[in-house]
Amino acid sequence: MSERKVDELYFSASSLRTYRTCQLKFKRRYIDGLFWPDDWVKDKEKKETQRLGQLFHTLAERYYLRGKVVDSKEVIEDKVVKWLERLVDFRPYNEEDQFLPEHRLQFNNQGLKLLAKYDLLHITQDNRVVIYDWKTYRSNSKKSFLKRSMQTIVYRYLLARAGGDYSQTGEWAAEDITLIYWNPRFPDDSKELPYTKEQYARDEDKIKNIIEQIKETNFAVDEDVLATSEKNNCLSCEYRPICHGEPALEIEPKEEDLELMEDWDEIDPISF
Ligand code: SF4
Repeated sequence: MSERKVDELYFSASSLRTYRTCQLKFKRRYIDGLFWPDDWVKDKEKKETQRLGQLFHTLAERYYLRGKVVDSKEVIEDKVVKWLERLVDFRPYNEEDQFLPEHRLQFNNQGLKLLAKYDLLHITQDNRVVIYDWKTYRSNSKKSFLKRSMQTIVYRYLLARAGGDYSQTGEWAAEDITLIYWNPRFPDDSKELPYTKEQYARDEDKIKNIIEQIKETNFAVDEDVLATSEKNNCLSCEYRPICHGEPALEIEPKEEDLELMEDWDEIDPISF
């Protein structure tokens, strides 16, 4: 049963990262479907941070869909109005380029099944593509961390491998792709990560290797599913009550965790 279910999964950056962090956590979320994305953040301030982040993502999506700010500033909190103004300054819309906000990409090729949802794909007239990812938490991630993150690995690789339909030539060279992380709280501190074919080859190996490990894990046998030995991983884990009989600490969740469960059925597959 479990094996069949694993074969059905499309892997996202979050699911691959979860497996590497703790196989038991992966099993609970993706195999057993034990999932409650909001409830483990109970602290009011953190919930508010999360809500403002989601609102910003929605407003940014509307801005790039319509090509102008359409939401009345009177009904939006001042803080988010300011974030939106900073966004318009940072990455203004124009008619000549192509802007694809909240864009989902799904790939299935010989058992390699991947998916990602991009905050924004910006395709320029000179046929380059920039992936934008909005971060809205109170601290800005370090570039060294972002470079190694599973999100960076999956986002750039998947676009290079399966996003050729958006290119004038039908394919992207790795060097055509750049990923930019940007947080409206720190408008002058964007993190730009260009891509190379060497990184592409390395990312492919890494992704295939993790997926192979996942497929070799027998999730039906408890002994085969390793729980993390790093206790810090458990502190803010939503399954802490089950594993350790203690509530999860009120630690701010990573933004990637907000998209833990993609609705696989809603994504239009790309055929190969
Ligand atoms: S509490 Fe710890 S061991 Fe249990 S699922 Fe979470 S990370 Fe894994």
